[in-house]
Amino acid sequence: MRNKVLVTGGLGFIGSHTVVCLHEAGFEPIIVDNLSNSEISALQGIEELIGYSPAFYQSDISEFPFLSKIFEDHEISAVIHFAAFKAVGESVEFPLKYYKNNMGGLITVLETMKAYNVNSVVFSSSCTVYGEPNQVPVLEITPMKEAESPYGATKQMGERILRDNASWCNTQCLRYFNPIGAHPTGKIGELPLGIPNNLIPYLTQTVAGIRKELTVFGGDYDTTDGTCIRDYIHVMDLAEAHVKAVERLIGNQQLGSFEVFNIGTGKGSSVLEVINTFEEINQIKVPYKIGPRRSGDVVKVWAETNKVENILGWKAHRNLSNMMKDAWNWQLELAKKTSNT
Ligand code: UDP
Repeated sequence: MRNKVLVTGGLGFIGSHTVVCLHEAGFEPIIVDNLSNSEISALQGIEELIGYSPAFYQSDISEFPFLSKIFEDHEISAVIHFAAFKAVGESVEFPLKYYKNNMGGLITVLETMKAYNVNSVVFSSSCTVYGEPNQVPVLEITPMKEAESPYGATKQMGERILRDNASWCNTQCLRYFNPIGAHPTGKIGELPLGIPNNLIPYLTQTVAGIRKELTVFGGDYDTTDGTCIRDYIHVMDLAEAHVKAVERLIGNQQLGSFEVFNIGTGKGSSVLEVINTFEEINQIKVPYKIGPRRSGDVVKVWAETNKVENILGWKAHRNLSNMMKDAWNWQLELAKKTSNT
């Protein structure tokens, strides 16, 4: 029998890819998502990829009775907790909304897990917990800086809450760097809601003609070409890291473990490198201009990945060209879907 893994936010960008990878690794994913930042079409994409319709609950994880129903219906072995708000700018504007949703959601998930004696969880954390690092690459032991935004604070607090509950709940905190790309089939990917804040959806929408021009935020930073540097990671690599984390949790029934891993490639790329790689691999020009810096941007950050390679046995396999190819393929698929509706 397959172990059942509850995936909160399982129709979101990273969640949907993880659901597919879980299935491929022999698990049975159970999805809960309130569709606040995702669309039901992701479920259809998942179905096409895995060949059946996984159990799906459209409900809010912050409601104990709703969540309990899922634990009543299924014998859950582990939880992957993605469901949270993630827009940095919006979190500055509406901090209470972020604290209530992200902390409230996590606490209810943990309360429900405790009530049903489920003691394994993977938490979506972020490299944002490091802030502007004094040194790159960043290691898991690099001290956190005070969070720049309420969103970042919810990730730091989430890790803290989990650490404080390690006596009964084994935890893997995965600190994602910059997840991009899409499933290579183009059946699932990142759904843009409104004007994108992130680089890749803005870039692909610009090339698709939805936006006029991409603005590169700052060309005068102290980096090789003056633009900011990030560790971009293919969403499929990231999804596979979750499978490794679940396997490690299920294999370890001794309580009291709390582990943190950087999930990046270990390589930094500048904004201009991203644009050049996109143009090269897809043979299309990106209309862009260099504009002013965006306030709050970290100048450069990338991951040290020794710990995750040695302990979790995970390593990213896809490079920036793969990411740019799959991101563009997804944009083209999205355009087809929109023109069919
Ligand atoms: N960026 C940009 N133009 C955009 C959006 C982002 O130049 O329209 C830059 C941004 O300054 C940063 C990088 O792209 O250096 C990644 O930004 P994103 O918002 O995707 O991720 P984050 O800032 O959270 O790392």
